[in-house]
Amino acid sequence: MKRIGLFGGTFNPIHRGHLQAADEVQKRFPLDQIYFIPSATPPHKEPDVLAGAADRLAMIRLAIADYPLFRASDVEVSRPGPSFTIDTVCYYKSNLPEETELYLIMGVDAFLEIHTWKSYVNLLKLISFIVMSRPCVEFIKSPHGWKILEDYLYRQISDTYRFSVERSRYDHPDNPPLYRMDIGLMDISSSQIRRCIKAGRPVDGQVPPAVDAYIKTKGLY
Ligand code: ATP
Repeated sequence: MKRIGLFGGTFNPIHRGHLQAADEVQKRFPLDQIYFIPSATPPHKEPDVLAGAADRLAMIRLAIADYPLFRASDVEVSRPGPSFTIDTVCYYKSNLPEETELYLIMGVDAFLEIHTWKSYVNLLKLISFIVMSRPCVEFIKSPHGWKILEDYLYRQISDTYRFSVERSRYDHPDNPPLYRMDIGLMDISSSQIRRCIKAGRPVDGQVPPAVDAYIKTKGLY
């Protein structure tokens, strides 16, 4: 039985924060594979500049070359229309062996908007979540980082989730568990990288060398 992580995002561009976070999650669970799934048109974001889907996918391929358990997935970029996670999860559910354990991986900043996602109630019924810490404003300002998630979960999603300290997860009578995972916080974001590039500042510490070279060659951002 395999355990597979689905890690979706705009990846505009992929950066070291994504890679380190996914690496920590892979080791802790441990997962057999993690699919990096760039969205075609992100329904929840309107970035200043959005690189083409083919370029974002190519940068993922370059970035994960040294990680044998990471895969780049074109499932969303090759699907017409906006990229909804529910469709992606259904796709993997019906295309992987039935006994596969699937985990949806995201940063806490993304989870705090889950009530705006298409069919989010169903999504929470379909798949286990792994929510990773991230030094976003809400998380840092929260009295103990995770309180922001807990308040949100009980208020917006369902007050029948219960936290298990030993397993670091929220259990629900009808839904698969929702894990929370403290990762080494890396204050790196794609938007910050795009701003640096626009201002002509180097980004070589924030993205792998091959991605840096790709951005320069293609003149992205
Ligand atoms: P932007 O700055 O353009 O909003 P981003 O850096 O948040 O982009 P996304 O591609 O939107 O990157 O992120 C995909 C997923 O990765 C999201 O679930 C996000 O929370 C998570 N993520 C991004 N950066 C980090 C990081 N430094 N640490 C942990 N999780 C991260």
